[in-house]
Amino acid sequence: MVYGIFSDIHGNLEALEALTKALTDEKLDRLLCVGDIVGYGANPLECIDMISDLKPAVVCGNHDAACCGLINTRCFNDRARSAVIWTKKRIRTQDVELLQGLKHVFKNGDITMAHGTLHEPESFNYMINETSARATFDLMDTKVCFVGHSHVPGIFSERPEEAPSYFYKKKFKLTKEERAIINVGSVGQPRDGDPRSCYCIYDSDARSVEFKRMTYDVQKAQKNIINAGLPSYLAFRLGKGV
Ligand code: ZN
Repeated sequence: MVYGIFSDIHGNLEALEALTKALTDEKLDRLLCVGDIVGYGANPLECIDMISDLKPAVVCGNHDAACCGLINTRCFNDRARSAVIWTKKRIRTQDVELLQGLKHVFKNGDITMAHGTLHEPESFNYMINETSARATFDLMDTKVCFVGHSHVPGIFSERPEEAPSYFYKKKFKLTKEERAIINVGSVGQPRDGDPRSCYCIYDSDARSVEFKRMTYDVQKAQKNIINAGLPSYLAFRLGKGV
């Protein structure tokens, strides 16, 4: 089974359009979306519609949950909070229902997916170090778990008798016994210093993982954010990938 996995679109229509185009060139059996369709960007409605057309399996992100009223924005910084307020004013009743209906954890065959950690997935904790990775490995009954949330692509790997280790490699192959938590990076707001959109291809038979990057019309996305009256930093950061 070949999966195309992507996360953290954040209402960035230009990035999502580029992703959709890139995905049509891949030979994929299934699409997975690791959450945060909305929040930050200027086109939440268009992104929800495009995701509905793509029909991936989707889990709920913290911005999705905040924008449909499932969680409050106490843990959000000021810019994220104003983007949630802006998005809430615009999304339609059907969008609220769709976001409220998203599950926190998805499992299929050999893979699991959650926006943050598997430990209290509805709390959206960050997978930040070996300790948080260990807690998720302990809860995993699959070989691979896809996560998002940090907008930084990378892999926590666990081999028998070894502590989890963290690394990034564009392309790699898991050994037979190896388990992995794979952060697929972000489509609409990358934060690893590379402003290009990120997605991931996983072949469960070959056990191969590949991160892919693609350029999109960043300037148009920035202009949309400014014109929408969203915080200007949200436009600035797209150009830097921070
Ligand atoms: Zn996010």
